[in-house]
Amino acid sequence: MSKSLKILFVSSEIEPFAKTGGLADVSSALPQMIKEHGHDIRVMMPRYGTISDRKFKLHDVIRLKELQLPIGNSIKVANVNSSFISNLKIKVQVYLLANKELYGRNGIYISATTLKEFPDNDERYIFFARGVLETLKRLGWQPDIIHCNDWQTGLIPAYMKTLYADDPFFIPIKTIFTIHNLHYQGNFPANSFSKTNLPPSLLSKLQVNNNSQYSFMKAGLEFADIITTVSPQYAKEICEDKETINGLHEVISKRKRKLFGILNGIDYNIWNPEIDPIISKRYNFDTIDSKFDNKLELIDKFNLKGEEPTPIIGIISRLVPEKGIDIILSALPELMKLKLRIVMLGTGKPEFTKLFSEAEKKYKGQFSFKAAFDPILAHMIEAGSDFYLMPSKYEPCGLNQMYSMRYGTIPIVRATGGLIDTVIDSSKSGGTGFTFTKYSSEELVITVERALKVCSQPSAWRKLIKNAMQKDYSWKTSANKYIALYNKALL
Ligand code: ADP
Repeated sequence: MSKSLKILFVSSEIEPFAKTGGLADVSSALPQMIKEHGHDIRVMMPRYGTISDRKFKLHDVIRLKELQLPIGNSIKVANVNSSFISNLKIKVQVYLLANKELYGRNGIYISATTLKEFPDNDERYIFFARGVLETLKRLGWQPDIIHCNDWQTGLIPAYMKTLYADDPFFIPIKTIFTIHNLHYQGNFPANSFSKTNLPPSLLSKLQVNNNSQYSFMKAGLEFADIITTVSPQYAKEICEDKETINGLHEVISKRKRKLFGILNGIDYNIWNPEIDPIISKRYNFDTIDSKFDNKLELIDKFNLKGEEPTPIIGIISRLVPEKGIDIILSALPELMKLKLRIVMLGTGKPEFTKLFSEAEKKYKGQFSFKAAFDPILAHMIEAGSDFYLMPSKYEPCGLNQMYSMRYGTIPIVRATGGLIDTVIDSSKSGGTGFTFTKYSSEELVITVERALKVCSQPSAWRKLIKNAMQKDYSWKTSANKYIALYNKALL
């Protein structure tokens, strides 16, 4: 085995502390797997108001006022809490940077009351980036690698290469920056740049959108020693497709040789129908008939009607355009003419919530929608559905299609990004699902019809389920790839 490394993994959301999407799942599972490989990895995130002291047994490792961090000309104080994430085998230390004024709110990036982004997200993540670096110094724990994730951590590599460049504590530390979604760039008005306290000459390097804004994501891309993204296909797409990347094309091309695509894995301690404590009846491929009990429970929970075994298509999604919500909406009238039912769970844009709530009334018993963020329902949908629909416009990796395969729930996806890397169309050998290329509701409907046909042929259907359930998307392989990159950065 290679030398044991010390790694700080920094993320704005980590399951089970705070989650809005796949980033939280990755930020929990990947560090645990890296630790299992024998490395000293710790993780750090902000201590949001939604995180319970009692539930997570938080205690201070750095007391209040011991950290004083600048935002522009003002100084704000912080303390650092400690907790753990753990599966049965291992425990990973979690540090949470606390400041009530900045993070003690009901929401992670968006206010739960107004449903609008917090107007001071620039300050919240400037403070976080400085807080991460100052925490390490204060604790005297010097990692080999700081692994940053998405725009919320993008300033860390920039600070390391500027304000902290001559600090002996930071000189040997290398940074990795992982893009989980290039569309969320953390762009703020150019006049907020002074709050970063970065050298003013840097502004021009970080500007986007005709220089009216600067970008935290761009800072990570410019200054990290190595850049990764969450699937090989998405790595390719962001290098090729100028549209996908909202003006970051230049910096991506410049750093192309330092960019690597590593497919996300999934945590089979959590997403596994054999041991899932949430679902009503556990199963594996040999006991696949028990999946039907989960289907009955789902039907009951979502008030579906129709005779059995009419197939159910599940959808669990953030309700944002890139998830293909518009083509789901326009395909709905045609889909509802087919012998199928749909259950949908999602939160996001209020206009989408409204349209799906109206559709639920219109197609009562056939289309059921819950506007909630509910992990229990998410597990029930994975276990109880026959298909899982994910017609994304673009998809850096996507986790739900991989969860679905393990639950024997056949994915129907648009062939883009990580969905290309993970789902094999049923027409090919080793098929695990159904894919379509053109982003349109017509293609979506045609593909669903094709899927229903296979579903009605018992032996072809069984084979598809077997292939899907046997796929191994555990973190083992991908964690090794990250470790190899950490070592590469240190060369
Ligand atoms: P993204 O990160 O772009 O939202 P992913 O497929 O990578 O998409 O990950 C989404 C994660 O968030 C999955 O774990 C999924 O189950 C979860 N999720 C999304 N919406 C909901 C919801 N409304 N309720 C519960 N879990 C959700």
